[in-house]
Amino acid sequence: MSEEKKRLADGNRRFISKHGAELDKHIAGQNPFAAVLTCSDSRVPPELIFDVGIGEIFVVRDAGNIAIDPSEIGSLEYAVEHLRVPLIVVMGHTCCGALNAAENGPGDSSCVGEIVNEIRCCFGESDHLRANVRMQIAHLMERSQAISKAVKDGTLKIMGAVYHLEDGTVEFLN
Ligand SMILES: [Zn+2]
Repeated sequence: MSEEKKRLADGNRRFISKHGAELDKHIAGQNPFAAVLTCSDSRVPPELIFDVGIGEIFVVRDAGNIAIDPSEIGSLEYAVEHLRVPLIVVMGHTCCGALNAAENGPGDSSCVGEIVNEIRCCFGESDHLRANVRMQIAHLMERSQAISKAVKDGTLKIMGAVYHLEDGTVEFLN
């Protein structure tokens, strides 16, 4: 077994010894109180940052916390339409590699290039980190009828946030 696989398997055993007793109650379904779209960065784990347990938040992650593909948007639509979450948080973070690549990296035609180009759309504004969060909220509203309808109906709120990985604080933007 590779060292990395062993670390994962060992961790899973620790997880089961810690949480095994409570897993039964989650089998019937999930009822998260919020959905979070955030960056895949390994330093930004939403369940730890918000100190929540199994079944409490519905998480979608990609590099740059962008709402560009049916996979991300559809996942959030599922949370809104089927799980009835009343809140989506779109959360960027300081020291973001995707944002840094958009600011400083060359453009390219790979899938990474698509992420970078999506983030660059907000570069008319000076604060790229917060502008990207706000732009992704706007894109969610534009690109998803289900989400924009739920917001208009008053059953869903979408909130922006920035996680400061220097001290662990989450700054809510609105
Ligand atoms: Zn990031």
